[in-house]
Amino acid sequence: SVVELVEDGPCRFRIPRRAGMRVDGVVFATPGLLPEMAGDQALKQVENVAKLPGIVGASYAMPDVHWGYGFPIGGVAATDTEAGGVVSPGGVGFDISCGVRLLAARCDREALDDHLELLMDALGHATPRGAGKGAVWHLGRSELREVLAEGARYAVEQGHGVQRDLDRCEDEGVLEGAAAEGLSDRALQRGLGQLGSLGSGNHFLEVQAVDAVYDERAARAMGFAEGQVCVMIHCGSRGLGHQVCTDHVRKMDRAMARYGIEVPDRQLASVPADSPEGEEYLAAMAAAANYARANRQLLTESARGVFRRIVGADLDLVYDISHNLAKIEDHQVNGDRRRLCVHRKGATRALPAGHPDLPEDLAEVGQPVLIPGTMGTASYVLTGVPEGEAWYSTCHGAGRVRSRHQAAREVRAGRLRGELAEAGITVRAGTARGLAEEAPLAYKDIDEVVAASEGAKLCSKVARLVPIGVVKG
Ligand code: 5GP
Ligand code: MN
Ligand code: MN
Repeated sequence: SVVELVEDGPCRFRIPRRAGMRVDGVVFATPGLLPEMAGDQALKQVENVAKLPGIVGASYAMPDVHWGYGFPIGGVAATDTEAGGVVSPGGVGFDISCGVRLLAARCDREALDDHLELLMDALGHATPRGAGKGAVWHLGRSELREVLAEGARYAVEQGHGVQRDLDRCEDEGVLEGAAAEGLSDRALQRGLGQLGSLGSGNHFLEVQAVDAVYDERAARAMGFAEGQVCVMIHCGSRGLGHQVCTDHVRKMDRAMARYGIEVPDRQLASVPADSPEGEEYLAAMAAAANYARANRQLLTESARGVFRRIVGADLDLVYDISHNLAKIEDHQVNGDRRRLCVHRKGATRALPAGHPDLPEDLAEVGQPVLIPGTMGTASYVLTGVPEGEAWYSTCHGAGRVRSRHQAAREVRAGRLRGELAEAGITVRAGTARGLAEEAPLAYKDIDEVVAASEGAKLCSKVARLVPIGVVKG
């Protein structure tokens, strides 16, 4: 059964409610992005999500949407926790609290001219990566418990960072309500040896330059200017988060029937957010989110050491934001204030100026939204807008158009490396295959995705960044 799409305003399509759907689907995209999207099952997944108990508003898809486990990547769905609304681990994804952190270096692009290869070698060495072992901080069991409870705050308290790192991190570095009880031994075991590591190929640490500023006032408040060097870090909760997702999908799959919940796809396994199983997942998810924030904090500290040594410049945190998370948030639904469980999977929260959750120094410009493109194209900083739909959410990246497998088949790593070098981008890759899987042609056009997000009034552009050197997971 083909998904019906009705054009419904600028950069907005509607999937009208039909059999089993509790709400419409809403897809934010340009017509140009749509045919690519229709190539995979993502729109069918938008329909499936619309069938979840307690879903309100719509089942939303961002312009970078593509196929994912149960929920599409680029999907946003909120359920009413006071009316049987469910929480679903598939709506968060396997890399819990995967996200992006942007650091502004206190130097301009020209300062790197003589040191770039040296800098990239040093960043490559200082950044543990790949699927295997290796981490900046080897934890004991009790330290791991602190990380799970206190996230980046614990890392900073232990000397790995400064107060600004917490002020400029979503949730001030700690998602409250974390509990390690819902973590299996296997999850804890996987967490011990991986804090301060990138993980696999889609994750990266990238040296960038600010190429264009569209909103001077916002850029100034966020802490960067045209020509400035930045470092973007993209990674998540590693094996620990993955294990939490696996464990709880399995538990919910067994528990669902007891709550009378039926879903069109087992990958959408879910239970009421306020049930014991739901609360246990949310607490375990928060623990994994804290691990992810501490992880990005430790990678920040090792990058700082390298920058000081080789460039003589400090790195100041612009912001740190997750794009795989479920959050309990208050929103207006049909005129009523409701407590919602907002799933964002491959989607970024985008708070407008004036929102109470913003740090004081960003209150007047809104929350920085960090959007990686690819290692060969641009990345963006955006901000939320007051009319923001989808519970203040927007895209999280360019979004895949080719599977890893397809990209690896089509791309020769050596040639790609040469093309990037010609464009002035130097790469430190984990493996040749990993590099090929992440080739720019595997992704949508980031400029178009951002234009569609802005066109749909989900966010507005602050700045465009271009890559100089990339350390790939
Ligand atoms: P995901 O979290 O879905 O794995 O990835 C988020 C986004 O990161 C992707 O949609 C893609 O646009 C972007 N991305 C992947 N690799 C790189 C890279 O090496 N550099 C940059 N700047 N972005 C990347
Ligand atoms: Mn990830
Ligand atoms: Mn990610």
